[in-house]
Amino acid sequence: MTSPVTSGPVPAASLRELDRAHVWHPYGPMPGRSDPLVVRSAQGVRLTLDDGRELVDGMSSWWASVHGYRHPALDDAVVRATGSMSHVMFGGLTHDPGVAIAERLVAITPEPLQHVFLADSGSVSIEVAIKMCLQYQRARGRPDRTRMMTWRGGYHGDTFAAMSVCDPEGGMHAAWSGFLPRQVFADRPPSMFDPAYDEHLRSVAEAHAGELAGIVVEPVVQGAGGMRFHDPRHLRTLREIADAHDLVLVFDEIATGFGRTGTLFAAEQAGVSPDVMCVGKALTGGYLTMAAALCTSAVATAVSEGEAGGLMHGPTFMANPLAATVAAASVDELLRRDWAGEVAGLGAGLREALAPARGLPGVRDVRVLGGIGVVQLDHPVDVPAAQAAAEGVGVWLRPFRDLVYAMPPYVTPADDVLRIGEAMVAAAGAG
Ligand SMILES: *Cc1c(COP(=O)(O)O)cnc(C)c1O
Repeated sequence: MTSPVTSGPVPAASLRELDRAHVWHPYGPMPGRSDPLVVRSAQGVRLTLDDGRELVDGMSSWWASVHGYRHPALDDAVVRATGSMSHVMFGGLTHDPGVAIAERLVAITPEPLQHVFLADSGSVSIEVAIKMCLQYQRARGRPDRTRMMTWRGGYHGDTFAAMSVCDPEGGMHAAWSGFLPRQVFADRPPSMFDPAYDEHLRSVAEAHAGELAGIVVEPVVQGAGGMRFHDPRHLRTLREIADAHDLVLVFDEIATGFGRTGTLFAAEQAGVSPDVMCVGKALTGGYLTMAAALCTSAVATAVSEGEAGGLMHGPTFMANPLAATVAAASVDELLRRDWAGEVAGLGAGLREALAPARGLPGVRDVRVLGGIGVVQLDHPVDVPAAQAAAEGVGVWLRPFRDLVYAMPPYVTPADDVLRIGEAMVAAAGAG
C-alpha cells in the first residue's frame, strides 16, 4: 500500500479505495456504508476537501477544537515540545509539560480538586475515576460497595466500565449484555427542575446505598446520550446524596469543560464541587489525545492508604509531553481570550439562526445552551440526506439518532455561526 505520509498526497479516488479496503471508521462496518469525505487540510474553522470545497466545521472535531485549526500558539507549542522530547515514560520520571498542565487544571477547576491523574483519552479517565471510587470504598473497609449510580441518558465513553454507565437504551448496552457490570440507574433528569425528581434520586440511592461506591454523571448537559440539558439544582441533590452515604461524586466534564456551557466548568452552575472530575476533549484544543481525572485530597488519601498502596493505573503514554504542552497552551489561550463572550456569541447566533426550525414539520424541539445548538426531530435523521443539505450550505455536521446539532469552535465568526444554523435548519428539513 502506498503511504500518503511518505510519498505525497494520494489521489482522492485511490485514497477512498484504500480506505474502504483497510480502514475502520467509528461505529462503522467494514467496508463502510458510504465514502467518507477526504480532508486535505484544516485552518481556522474550515475543513478543506480534496475537491477544493471548504466546509465550516460545526462539530469542532467531536467538540475538541475550540480554538479552530492551525492555531499559531498551539502549532508553535507542539513544534517547541518536539525540540525537548516527544515522550518519556511517567513512571519514576516527571517533566515540565506534565506538571504545567496539572498545575493549570488544579488552578481552574473547583478548589477541592487538588490532584491530577493524566490519562490518554476521555474513556480511560472515566475508568480511572471509577477505580478511584472502588479503591476509596475498599480503603474505607467497604469492599462490597462496587456499583456506580448514574442517571439514564448519559454517555461516558466506549471502554467497558465507561459503557456500563452509559444510557442502557442507547444501543451500547444491548450489544454487551451479560458482560457489562450492572450499575444502578435513576430515571433521566427532567429538562426543567422537578422536586419529585430529587426525591426519586434520593430513594434510588437509599435502596442501593450498601452496594454503591460512587455516582457518575455529566453535569448540566448529557452529550452523546441525547444532547439534553437539565437544571443544575439536581446536581446539588446528588452532592447531598453522596455526602449522606459517603459516595464518591464524579462529574464527567469531558464534553462540558473549558467553557462549552457558558461557565468554565458546568459544575459551577450548580455551585457544587465533585470529589472527582474528568476532563478531556477540548483539553488540548483538539490537537492530541489527552484527558485527566482530578480528585480531592480526601479521595487521594484514602486511595493511597488502601491495601493496593496506590492508584492502580498507568498508561504507556501517560502525560505525553507533546499533548501536555499543547494542553497547557490551549488553556492559556482560552483564558487569554474572552471565551465567555465567544460562547455567548455562539449561543446568540445559533438561537437566531435556529428560530425557523421551530415551525418545521418533523421538528420536536429546538434548544440552545452555551455554545451548543440542538434540533431534535420526531424521527431518526436520514443522515446522508441531512449531511448533503448541510454541505450544500458549506457546513460540516454529523447528526445522529434524532438529533441535528452543532458545537462550533469558539472562534467561529458571527456570519459562519449563522451559516451553521442555516445548515442545521436545512439538514433538519432534509433529514
Ligand atoms: C467523548 C466523551 C467521553 C469519551 O471520551 P473519549 O476521549 O472519546 O474516550 C466521555 N464522556 C463524555 C461526556 C464525552 O463526551
